Amino acid sequence: MRMDDDKRFMMRALDLARQGQGHTRPNPMVGAVIVKNGKVIGEGFHEIFGGPHAEVNAFNNCSESSKNATLYVTLEPCCHFGKTPPCTDLIISKGIERVVIAMTDPNPLVSGKGIQKLREAGISVTTGVMESDAASINEVFIKFITEKKPFVLYKAAMSLDGKTACPSGESQWISSGESRRESHTLRGMYKGIMVGAGTVIKDDPLLTARTEGFDDPVRIIVDGNLSAPLSAKVFQNKGDVIILTTSSGNPEKLEKLQNLGMDVIVADSDVPGVVDLEMAMTGLVLKGIDSILLEGGAETAASAFKAGIVDKVRVYVAPMIIGGEKAPGLIGGEGAKTLQSATKLYDIQMKCCDVDMVIEGYVKKT
Ligand SMILES: [Zn+2]
Repeated sequence: MRMDDDKRFMMRALDLARQGQGHTRPNPMVGAVIVKNGKVIGEGFHEIFGGPHAEVNAFNNCSESSKNATLYVTLEPCCHFGKTPPCTDLIISKGIERVVIAMTDPNPLVSGKGIQKLREAGISVTTGVMESDAASINEVFIKFITEKKPFVLYKAAMSLDGKTACPSGESQWISSGESRRESHTLRGMYKGIMVGAGTVIKDDPLLTARTEGFDDPVRIIVDGNLSAPLSAKVFQNKGDVIILTTSSGNPEKLEKLQNLGMDVIVADSDVPGVVDLEMAMTGLVLKGIDSILLEGGAETAASAFKAGIVDKVRVYVAPMIIGGEKAPGLIGGEGAKTLQSATKLYDIQMKCCDVDMVIEGYVKKT
């Protein structure tokens, strides 16, 4: 019985946590529920970066005394002074009898310390309830904390036969209107959106979020030879732009881009004109980019997979057959030499979006 209740209240805490999506970075999304005699008496979530933690909001919203109540929280309560005082002290002072936690803090410097402090104060602590769900909503935060690299989602649309355009180049639109609206919403959830110079030249996209209540993502352009024209929309529109390039680019053009207010990261690889994406990721983290939505095209996507920077893949498959040997496919480059060395996904989720099939999964790192 208790297990069922624990799951039910933790699910509610996870729903609350998700309400902070897009507003808490680089901090995690956290939800908290306070339960007394089987009834929810307080709820809260981490609403905005630097704001009160979920536990604080839940206590502030309590309809009655939380003495001897149970606290459900999606992430181990903090036990150190950050932007706010430690939540463990607050939990202890409120006379909470039991704390149920979905996942421990992924920061190895503090992981388990909050739990230890609560137990030392005589509070019963249960951990691991709905743990994988909690980890999945904070996949960006976990990667940022443990690897100091941005979490990268590769998102693309293709026809049933794996094509992204007709041989003529016509590509708008392969996926349904609903799929495209969903993709635009995704842009608000990521700190940066990354495309290659080829996409800038061919499609001249704005790369804005068009999602109410969310900031536009930082536009990240992979352009090893600085081949995208200065007149491109992405360079005119207000908002942050970071260009990933190499020392092969024209220095005068580089200066012009910088004078226009573009930020530049130079990351040379062994091949002239080809950006070392892995190195560039470290530069991006230093500029506060915790998450990237990678939108292609085929060559940039191929380089990203080759560099091992992609964490998750979401592909919209439209019920349409384009055919044609000259029609471009999703991923360029040289491709895998054997099926064994092909990029594999795990934890696959599938759903429909209008008439399209959406397939999502995490990239198996070798
Ligand atoms: Zn806290």
